[in-house]
Order: sequence, then structure tokens, then C-alpha cells
Amino acid sequence: MSPPSSKAIQRRGLMLVISSPSGAGKSTIARNLLEADPHMSISVSVTTRKRRPSEIEGRHYFFKSIREFEGLRQTDALLEWAEVHGNFYGTPRDAVEAAMSQGQDMLFDIDWQGAQQLQEKMGGDVVSIFILPPTMAELQSRLHRRAEDSEEVIATRLANSRAEIEHWLEYDYIVVNEDLDSAFASVQAIVEAERLRRDRRPGLFEFVNGLLTETPKL
Ligand code: GDP
Ligand code: ADP
Ligand code: 5GP
Repeated sequence: MSPPSSKAIQRRGLMLVISSPSGAGKSTIARNLLEADPHMSISVSVTTRKRRPSEIEGRHYFFKSIREFEGLRQTDALLEWAEVHGNFYGTPRDAVEAAMSQGQDMLFDIDWQGAQQLQEKMGGDVVSIFILPPTMAELQSRLHRRAEDSEEVIATRLANSRAEIEHWLEYDYIVVNEDLDSAFASVQAIVEAERLRRDRRPGLFEFVNGLLTETPKL
């Protein structure tokens, strides 16, 4: 029996979804992963939220008006979208399709609604991680320490955090972000293991065939 050709099972990129309640550290972990891993790129979402002082247009988000966001939705330019903490967020479709067809891995910092939609649409390409804070008190103090949001916004995010955490069972992996270095190491270990999965490595057929047809010199 001849093995399936590598064309038939072309390498698809990994879609790594990271979610957490606001302030648990997912953006920090995502940033570290992008710096450490040249094979990982990030999906830059569109949002109707106001830009934070530290954020850069096109790098952290594409900032849009509600009307512009509606236009993107209506032209099916978004792979998924959701309302989170009173703002709209969505994943631009084109960048994802380009990355996937080239076998590149992509990171998604999206909420549980987005994770569900990607799971439904992209199935086996998706690997999901939920980041938990060590305590709710620490979550609150991180949101304050980040000092990027108003008191009112922080209060909304804290009030929403329980409802977000309730979705933890829908994720493949759970990482508690107490110590940042060890949480980051866990995320890297997940990525490494997922890349080693047999079904993501079509090139192995050739390698194993080579092994089996090799005549050892005695
Ligand atoms: P953070 O929670 O402090 O990182 O705050 P953000 O304002 O950056 O994100 C707000 C929420 O929107 C988070 O739950 C994100 O995971 C979610 N989010 C960001 N981008 C997207 C997206 O493209 N799609 C969906 N569905 N959710 C997103
Ligand atoms: P999220 O993207 O989940 O809203 P951030 O990555 O912005 O969260 O992190 C929230 C704040 O907590 C930031 O100021 C970040 O520097 C800090 N932080 C992240 N992880 C840790 C950690 N393990 N210990 C202490 N502070 C942390
Ligand atoms: P923030 O306003 O703090 O940047 O993001 C708030 C939440 O929105 C975070 O949980 C973040 O993961 C989520 N989020 C950001 N972009 C998207 C997106 O494109 N889609 C979805 N579903 N959630 C997003």
C-alpha cells in the first residue's frame, strides 16, 4: 500500500486560541510567545474599543468606528466577531486564511465567544488555552497595576470575569498565571507538543518510509 501523498495532507497551520478574564495576563503571554517563536504570528483584531495609550494602530488592533465594523461584518470580512465588555471585536478573515494555507501558526487573543466560533469553523486546526489568575484579588490588582483603563472600565471587566471563567471547561488546556515565567513555559510546552502531533506532520510519511527501506550495513 502506498502512503498518502504529502499533497493530500498538506501541513495546516496551528490556530492557537488564548482566552482569559481581562487582566489574567494573556496579552503578556501572547507577546512573549511572539518574541520567542519566529513561526508564530498574531491575528490582529478589529475593535470598536477606544485605543489605550500604549496601543498602536495595526499592531494591537485595527481601531474602527461602529459603522466601519458593521461594514466589515456585512461583507463577511470577519471570521468571527463578538461583543465583549460593551465593545465589538472581530477577527479579519483574510490574514487567517493566508497564514493557514501557508502552514503558518497563528495566535488568537480572543474571548470565549470567538473561541467557540473558531472551533466550529476550523475544528481540528484549533488548540485552545484558558489562562486563569491565581486569585480574584490578584486579578483586580493586575487590572489596576496595568493602569490603562478607567475605574469604570476596570469595574465592568471585573464584573464580567466570573462569567468568562465559567467557560473554562470548553478549552483544551488550562494555565494558571501565578508566576509569569512558569505560565509562559507551560504555554510554550503546549505549542511544542501540539506541533509534534502525528496528524500535523505529513512529512513524516516520507521519513518513516526512508527508515523502513534503509538497508543497514552489518
Ligand atoms: P484584555 O482582556 O485586557 O486583553 O482586553 P482587550 O480589550 O484587549 O480584549 C477584550 C476582550 O475581547 C477579550 O476577552 C478578548 O479576548 C476579546 N477579543 C479580542 N479580540 C477579539 C476578536 O477578534 N474576536 C473575539 N471574539 N474576541 C476578541
Ligand atoms: P490580559 O491581556 O489578560 O488582559 P495583561 O497581559 O494585560 O492581561 O496583564 C495584566 C497586567 O498584569 C499587566 O500589567 C501585566 O504586566 C501583569 N501581569 C501579567 N502576568 C503577571 C504575573 N504572572 N504576575 C504579575 N503580574 C502579571
Ligand atoms: P481588550 O479590550 O482588553 O483589548 O480586550 C478585551 C477582550 O476582548 C479580551 O478578552 C480579548 O481577548 C478579546 N478580544 C480581542 N479581540 C477579539 C476578537 O477579535 N474577537 C473576540 N472574540 N474577542 C476579542
